[in-house]
Amino acid sequence: MSAGKANLFDFDRRALEAFFTGMGEKPFRAAQVMRWIHQLGEPDFMRMTDLATSLRQRLLAETDLAVPKVVSDKVATDGTRKMLLQLADGNCIETVFIPETERGTLCISSQVGCTLNCSFCMTARQGYNRNLTVAEIIGQIWQAARLLNHTHDKRVISNVVLMGMGEPLLNFDNVVTAIDLMLDDLAYGLSKRRITLSTAGLVPGIDRLSQKCDISLAVSLHATTDDIRDQLVPINKKYPIAELLAACRRYIDASSPQNRKVTFEYVMLKGVNDSEKDAKRLINLMSQVPSKINLIPFNTFPGTSYECSSRDTVERFRDKLGSAGFVTVIRKTRGDDIDAACGQLAGRVMDRTRRSTTTLAPAL
Ligand code: SAH
Repeated sequence: MSAGKANLFDFDRRALEAFFTGMGEKPFRAAQVMRWIHQLGEPDFMRMTDLATSLRQRLLAETDLAVPKVVSDKVATDGTRKMLLQLADGNCIETVFIPETERGTLCISSQVGCTLNCSFCMTARQGYNRNLTVAEIIGQIWQAARLLNHTHDKRVISNVVLMGMGEPLLNFDNVVTAIDLMLDDLAYGLSKRRITLSTAGLVPGIDRLSQKCDISLAVSLHATTDDIRDQLVPINKKYPIAELLAACRRYIDASSPQNRKVTFEYVMLKGVNDSEKDAKRLINLMSQVPSKINLIPFNTFPGTSYECSSRDTVERFRDKLGSAGFVTVIRKTRGDDIDAACGQLAGRVMDRTRRSTTTLAPAL
């Protein structure tokens, strides 16, 4: 990518229309170009046959079509596929595709590293480098679509979850523009139910998001008391559980009927948050917000002192919540043989000061 040139992957439909108007072209060129790049996966202006040759040449000279490069692509025994993508500055991020019978879910990253320092998450160990651009967020879908032979008519990727590396609400504007593209029929045409943003609980960000789009919201709750949550998800010190639940209620009030539940994520940590008392307190918290819950068996990584709760404990926890009337799913751990499971994404961060590279994923 050359400095100074506009990268057309950074633009949603409105921005692209404004860009073409600024070039002295008709705004409908935006629709044509979007279809080429996002629906047809065409990275070469010269093959965009419904544009005049002079416009193609001008686009080639004056703009860029740049997305992250796929540098590794691994398939786990259960079919989960982990892609390592390299950004123009040398940093790497990870994107994971999870095939299921009824759907195919792509888990994408929103930042290089993360600032939030959750104590049980591997991404936290690598520190924070920067926000991803729109092109780097949407480019993960573009690259995955190519590798998976996803087309507009044969949709292999049916769902997108912003649950990879980073806190999406701390990269708000770029994430919202990328979501616009995911929803746009000229790009990926996903329905808003099929896009889920997962947050560690940034209250102002949840409120801002509710004004912009009503995609599905997942919240990493992970604890039932502020004391424990402060240790697991330190942002809780700023936005404690009661404030977080109030923001979830406001989000639900602002969204359209089909999205009227927040998903709480709850990582099962032996001896930390998995007692009978926790289950009771969780039932009490969940009765305050229309919600369902995903119990996530803790995925271990080198250097952590946390352990996953026993299978029995997880099942008992689920049964307790279930018998209190809450939809409770134990999330299957997928792709752990290639370190593609929740909390195991590490990518590769260039240290900005020492120019060295931190690599945490053992498989890399
Ligand atoms: N920052 C966002 C999205 C990234 S994490 C958030 O916090 O929600 C995606 C999910 O994986 C979160 O629920 C996170 O808490 C969970 N997670 C992180 N590390 C994990 C681990 N080691 N085992 C299981 N789940 C983990």
